[in-house]
Amino acid sequence: MNGTLFPEGGPNRVKSLENNQYKMSFTIPTDEDGRMGRQCPIKTCSPGYFKVKPGTGVTGGQVAAYCPYCRHSTEPSDFATKEQIRYAKGLLLREVQKGVNEMIRDTMGLGASGKRKIGGGFLSVELSYKPGTLPHVRQPVEDEVRREVVCPLCTLDQTVFGLAMWCADCGKDIFMVHVSAELAVIRRMVDDIGRREASLGRRVAAKDHENCLEDAVSIFEASAKAIVRRALIERGDTPEQIDAHFKKIGNSFQSIERTRSQLKELFGFDLDADSRWESLSSSFAKRHPVTHNLGVIDRKYLERIQEAEREGREVRISTAEIQNLLIHVEQAVSHIHSKLGATTQHSLLGSGEYGLDDSK
Ligand SMILES: [Zn+2]
Ligand SMILES: [Zn+2]
Repeated sequence: MNGTLFPEGGPNRVKSLENNQYKMSFTIPTDEDGRMGRQCPIKTCSPGYFKVKPGTGVTGGQVAAYCPYCRHSTEPSDFATKEQIRYAKGLLLREVQKGVNEMIRDTMGLGASGKRKIGGGFLSVELSYKPGTLPHVRQPVEDEVRREVVCPLCTLDQTVFGLAMWCADCGKDIFMVHVSAELAVIRRMVDDIGRREASLGRRVAAKDHENCLEDAVSIFEASAKAIVRRALIERGDTPEQIDAHFKKIGNSFQSIERTRSQLKELFGFDLDADSRWESLSSSFAKRHPVTHNLGVIDRKYLERIQEAEREGREVRISTAEIQNLLIHVEQAVSHIHSKLGATTQHSLLGSGEYGLDDSK
């Protein structure tokens, strides 16, 4: 028998190494946007899944990649997704089957016809071997990840779930780039309200304002949670302690007052006194009636709204207010980020760049 299980070459570029080792290379298929899935190897990392666009970011000789969520760093190949591993195993099994087919043909001394006659006289047998069709290897099916951002440092085009902290290629803190990208989406929606009002009417425009306000509050809340989680991890709290803190935090970050007291309690950190916090606070206060005005409003809440209206504070929301709110949310998140999150050597953005102290 002189065949080999893995004939060299072929579409998977099989190469024979020493000691019966083989090297097989294949390209991981990308999605329609040219991105490929990546999975953090740390089991407890959540969501752990992201995508990168090959050819952007650190190209050539990359020795380490990073998880955008937990900053775990290891060889890029260790970030393979389950689907990519399945795909690789499928291709490998296909090569094995191909090799086995060849070996059987070889051992049986079958020619190109796949048939051989042995014996003669009283007994003659014809041997033939029909190899089964090679299994089809389904391309990896990856999740949809829609939040895309390009790292301003290494140019890696990456998509993540929610708000990620780190760049998957250079490992730098690009949190504020993610936050800005999220806010920019709402800004585009706000800028379109006038057009929608003209074609769809006032009620739709009012709903658009409400939705944008809610989204802005949600971005602040999600950002504050991400920063606080990171700060707790970095100061060495256990996962159990972190869970307990978050239970207590609940939805506190939907309110500036409660954010203030939570940050004070957790980190002894005071939000600076600034009129912009006031403006944020009054916009945030509108979220509750907005969220619940189609649900059941309790009497106490109604009284509070009426009181606010009597004092001349409107529950109605304007385009200008949302535009201001978006600026202030970005500054507020940046301020908390620079105070709590930007303390490590990996930090890039933050530290006063968008700080409330800045008069930009
Ligand atoms: Zn991770
Ligand atoms: Zn980068």
